[in-house]
Amino acid sequence: PEVLLEINKLKKYFPVKGGVLQRTIGHVKAVDEVTFSVYKGETLGIVGESGSGKSTLGRTILRLLDPTDGQIVFKDSDISTIGNRKMRRFRKEMQMIFQDPFASLNPRMSVGEIIEEPMIIQRNLSKKERKEKVVDLLEKVGMSEDTRQKYPHEFSGGQRQRIGIARALTMNPELIIADEPVSALDVSVQSQVLNLMADLQDEFQLTYLFIAHDLSVVKHFSDRVGVMYLGKMAELGPKSVLYQNPLHPYTRALLSSVPVPDMDRKRDKITLYGELPSPSNPPTGCPFHTRCSEVHKRCKEEVPQFIEQEKGHYVACHLYTREDHF
Ligand code: SF4
Ligand code: MG
Repeated sequence: PEVLLEINKLKKYFPVKGGVLQRTIGHVKAVDEVTFSVYKGETLGIVGESGSGKSTLGRTILRLLDPTDGQIVFKDSDISTIGNRKMRRFRKEMQMIFQDPFASLNPRMSVGEIIEEPMIIQRNLSKKERKEKVVDLLEKVGMSEDTRQKYPHEFSGGQRQRIGIARALTMNPELIIADEPVSALDVSVQSQVLNLMADLQDEFQLTYLFIAHDLSVVKHFSDRVGVMYLGKMAELGPKSVLYQNPLHPYTRALLSSVPVPDMDRKRDKITLYGELPSPSNPPTGCPFHTRCSEVHKRCKEEVPQFIEQEKGHYVACHLYTREDHF
């Protein structure tokens, strides 16, 4: 499959200030050496607890945040350090759908204006063409034409997310990064929005990076799934492999709390000990070692590398790495 996006050792650190002089006393390693590819037309689910760095990862890929280090390669162009002007060309092709559509829609603009705005900025269509496109996009997301004259507050959460999706589609993007697009919605509305996203993916050949906080949402929706923990990718693989044969103890613990009606043997529930450590003061060695039931001495000293264990199935855990003896 064709690679659309390649992330190579991407880092996003935020300075932590302290003391009377508010000097930098440390860093939050929100994204820490994350490496993966996204294939054209697929949905890659990225799962993690809050504080795992998954939203920061999405924003950094879109250059809403500047990366600290590493590469973001989109369609063979390294966009990790290019300036705003050069980035404009790529902005059209990479769009974001946010968790809270209300916060991301300007309340003083009508829905028609909100959807039309990116086209005005790009100056490539006439007024008449823009209006036609707005009506067409609204229809594509299941909203009527009279939605144009109304304002975001007049709509429910699910309808607002449809409007947010229409706006994201305005510039015919190839990649959409969806940051928990349904987690703020009622359960009954969630599947409608996910179905809409799936239909639109087929119709427009979209590629999705789908960020979620648990494995159940991405289960039906993703082709591959990555699991993040404290800024690092713990495991990544094809969905069926990851759900049936999880390798990382963290993925196993997460999956043990997801009901699996279609499996004959029941998974034992694995308890995660303790809370997520502070991202500004992460554990040494393996970031998961303070909560891992399989922790051994080496885990506290050495960071496990993210290694391909079997085709397309990557894991960062010392249970699967051999110590080198010389
Ligand atoms: Fe657990 Fe060690 Fe693997 Fe980390 S490296 S997940 S602590 S076994
Ligand atoms: Mg988030």
